Amino acid sequence: MLHRIQLPPEAAHLRWAVDLQERLLRGLCDPATNAGTVTLAWVQGLWNDPPKPWVKKFCGRKGLALMRKIADANAAEKDSLLAAFLNDSKCGQAFASGAVRFRLHGLAAFSANPALAKSARDLFERFYKPQFDAGAGYSAPGVKLAKGQLDRPAFVSAFARHNDLGVCPYCDGTLTPSRAEVDHFYPKSEYPFLALLPENLVPACKGCNSIQVKGVQVPLEVGATNETADWFHPYHRTADGDFRVEFLPPRMNDEPRQLRLTAIDPNHQARVKNLNGLLSLTEYWGNRLRHRMQAKIAALRTRRRNQKGRLDETGLREQLQDWAKEAAAGRRHLEFSILEEAWCRAAGDGDAQFLEELLAVNNEPC
Ligand SMILES: [Zn+2]
Repeated sequence: MLHRIQLPPEAAHLRWAVDLQERLLRGLCDPATNAGTVTLAWVQGLWNDPPKPWVKKFCGRKGLALMRKIADANAAEKDSLLAAFLNDSKCGQAFASGAVRFRLHGLAAFSANPALAKSARDLFERFYKPQFDAGAGYSAPGVKLAKGQLDRPAFVSAFARHNDLGVCPYCDGTLTPSRAEVDHFYPKSEYPFLALLPENLVPACKGCNSIQVKGVQVPLEVGATNETADWFHPYHRTADGDFRVEFLPPRMNDEPRQLRLTAIDPNHQARVKNLNGLLSLTEYWGNRLRHRMQAKIAALRTRRRNQKGRLDETGLREQLQDWAKEAAAGRRHLEFSILEEAWCRAAGDGDAQFLEELLAVNNEPC
């Protein structure tokens, strides 16, 4: 969300799987279909492409039971279910074509029938877990894939390769592909029709995907006609270059500096506020600031020791501007480079408290 990201070509396998979802739901929601219709052979006939053993494994006893519950819903419920899927699964295309407003349906229409909502949620989540787990996955016919099927780890690796991104797209912290998790931007618990939609899958660090940070928060003004308008989107409307990091003046000298994110275009302030509410960036980066400053103080100490001279303010401010440029050049690759650039630039521009702390190195014994 902080960085521009794109889906890797391997996402084609997920698009094929979303097509399987659509074929299945159309079959289940056909007025002529009921629980008795739904058998393994019936699903194989609907899908045709995937190998029979794959379909058998996907369905299992539990999968067929969930399908039968949907097949037994009444006609109006089936219409709503299919309409919700067809609407929600088009959100990626809509955002890609520049739409800012989009109304997601999710399962809100089924509050009067929680059993049906649960069956639909469980069935669509099944496409993600266990079917997208390591060792499972998807392999669209006729689409090239280096080996086996596209599972979650292969998707994360393809994403990292394709984007040349060394940091978490949400928080700018460390992202090791082998330890990355996949966040559902719109939580699959509420928007299960997006459980496998590529545009809804964002490799992110464990911290961002945790319940304490983004977790299952819903990045929408739920129910508003413009429910997506005041939010960034990880693939189609990123915050990159759309905000600046500012440091509030301390009320007391030893108080940790508070951060503020300000939209460069004032019309986007609500998006920036929502972004911070979703990811707690000012708090997270504020906690990292001390660590970043200590690293620079250590560098200044070494320089003072080697040159055996005092740091003058002009020289220090030039050094800070150089560090800010280095951080800017490391954007997308060096962790917390956004924070680093911001505080070095603020200090280089004359932030009194930052400068005072850095110049205090002069008072230390060499
Ligand atoms: Zn993160």
